[in-house]
Amino acid sequence: MSASDKPLNLRPATRLVHGGTLRSQFGETSEALFLTQGFVYDSAEAAEARFKGTEPGFIYARFGNPTVAMFEQRMALLEGAEAARATASGMAAVTAALMGLLRAGDHIVAARALFGSCLYVVEEWLPRFGVASTLVDGTDLDQWRAAMRPNTKVCFLESPTNPQLEILDVAAIAEIAHAGGARLVVDNVFATPLLQQPLALGADVVVYSATKHIDGQGRCLGGVILSSQKMIDENFHNPLRQTGPALSPFNAWVMLKGLETLPVRVAQQGASAARLADVLAGLPGVARVLYPFRKDHPQHDLARRQMAGGGTVIALDLEGGKPAAFRFANALRVVKISNNLGDAKSLITHPATTTHQRLSPEAREKGGIGEGMLRLSVGLEDVEDLIDDVTQAAQAARA
Ligand SMILES: *Cc1c(COP(=O)(O)O)cnc(C)c1O
Repeated sequence: MSASDKPLNLRPATRLVHGGTLRSQFGETSEALFLTQGFVYDSAEAAEARFKGTEPGFIYARFGNPTVAMFEQRMALLEGAEAARATASGMAAVTAALMGLLRAGDHIVAARALFGSCLYVVEEWLPRFGVASTLVDGTDLDQWRAAMRPNTKVCFLESPTNPQLEILDVAAIAEIAHAGGARLVVDNVFATPLLQQPLALGADVVVYSATKHIDGQGRCLGGVILSSQKMIDENFHNPLRQTGPALSPFNAWVMLKGLETLPVRVAQQGASAARLADVLAGLPGVARVLYPFRKDHPQHDLARRQMAGGGTVIALDLEGGKPAAFRFANALRVVKISNNLGDAKSLITHPATTTHQRLSPEAREKGGIGEGMLRLSVGLEDVEDLIDDVTQAAQAARA
């Protein structure tokens, strides 16, 4: 078996089709699915050498698997990272990344606008192991500076945030983190690896829920951690092997095939999202539309600087609060009600009663998650059908 794709100076779309491919002796065109837990050795000596690490090769699927390795390698090539480690879900990636970098007695600063489960890990899980946490308004650099303590080891953020689509200044926050001796971890799910490169902006670690755009067709859970080889070796390699949040080879294979079409999907879904955002902004009963590349977005200039596109997700505020938002969602015929995102199917969610239900009303208010807010993940349907759908839903919402 050989790595057929050396990282020539290939552009992302090409890397996503060929990068990291390990061809077996059969010369298959499509990446093979190695649905195996273990590996056999030619001799007892070979097994010994494999375990000693003096001979390369796979040992056990919790440590590594050829299909998973192809996915990791393809992700690393895409991200421009030295190394990657795949995990069973996005949350496994976030948890392993943070726990790998933190010890009892350390402190983490995170932007308050986090994916619900990430907030749980920062606010409730890490403190159980003696890691203190401070949440800040991620758009306010002074709050990041003020929150730094001598024992702050990690700064953590998402941008664009969920669901308000705030844009955080990754380069500036990386500088603040590094000045204080901390590492910056970025959850880059909403931007996708194609629209924003946190490592190039100064981040030390990037994490993804591959469940979202990387699968892109709503099938499997997966996650990935990307960073320098040194950081993986020192902080993630052994904890991942020993604690076992390994990605299933089958799911890795689905993700690997998903990567081949990622650029086409993200471009199409992003173009539809930009168009839909403008249409929504002009509909009666829609109080506000948040889309990073619209001129009226509060961090529009930063979004244009930091991202190569506005993304595939829109947030909108309806006049009339929860009843109007529910009427809008219930009236949709093409767009489905679901809390997922990044899917080929357009999906809408009411964050206040679903993904962000756990937050107190005050916390939601503080985070700008109103009762009338909806988050729309734009899929691959014909954009004209989506426009028709939201137009009639907006009418129904006013009834
Ligand atoms: C979905 C998501 C996660 C968690 O990923 P899972 O694959 O569901 O575990 C983390 N962060 C963000 C921003 C997400 O959208």
